[in-house]
Amino acid sequence: MNVTKVTVKGFANTYIIEGDEGAILIDTGLPGCEKAILDKCREKNISLQLIVITHGHFDHIGSAAALKRETGALVAVHTEDAQALRTGMSKMDRPVGLIAHLMPLLMRSVKTDPVEPDILIDEEMSLQEYGIDGRILLTPGHTSGSISVMLTSGEAFVGDLIMGGFFGKIRPRRPNLPPFEIGRDSIKNSVNYVLEQNPTVIYPSHGGPFAPQDVARWADSL
Ligand SMILES: [Zn+2]
Ligand SMILES: [Zn+2]
Repeated sequence: MNVTKVTVKGFANTYIIEGDEGAILIDTGLPGCEKAILDKCREKNISLQLIVITHGHFDHIGSAAALKRETGALVAVHTEDAQALRTGMSKMDRPVGLIAHLMPLLMRSVKTDPVEPDILIDEEMSLQEYGIDGRILLTPGHTSGSISVMLTSGEAFVGDLIMGGFFGKIRPRRPNLPPFEIGRDSIKNSVNYVLEQNPTVIYPSHGGPFAPQDVARWADSL
């Protein structure tokens, strides 16, 4: 499985995963990030079948409408976070820390084009149909509808369940809590669930990647 990271606006990672018979995109960045992703697809001659949205925040759903329009790929999101796509409004849970308390102001100021999701996820789902040897895991915690992608080859893509450093900027390879959560227990359970899948590497949406043993050590301290 070939993984290409496209970091948009300097802080949000999106990932293109190519299998033998298809390609998927994980997250879409902020509004206006479609060009960077489309350019990479063109450069590598990739046609996207599916766009997996890890959760309904503006820096993940921002270019979903444009990318769906341009590529015809289907958009998949968990039922609980689908409303964010439909309305273009980020879903906000309990803020952790000062910055997070200020973020709703920022989030309200970012306009995201609404898009109707094609696939609503409410249980684990195989990605075989899209040419990818892997599956979608339910990993609630950052939001109630947060999901991860686990490839059979060992790569785990966890969205904002684990954040690299401070928004991927300071000490990006150090695992950190995300700025919003539905509850600490949910975060812990989901991190442990990802670790139980025996990943070889863990890719977050901000910063990273992480070695599983670093995440395990961090998870013990939660
Ligand atoms: Zn988020
Ligand atoms: Zn994010």
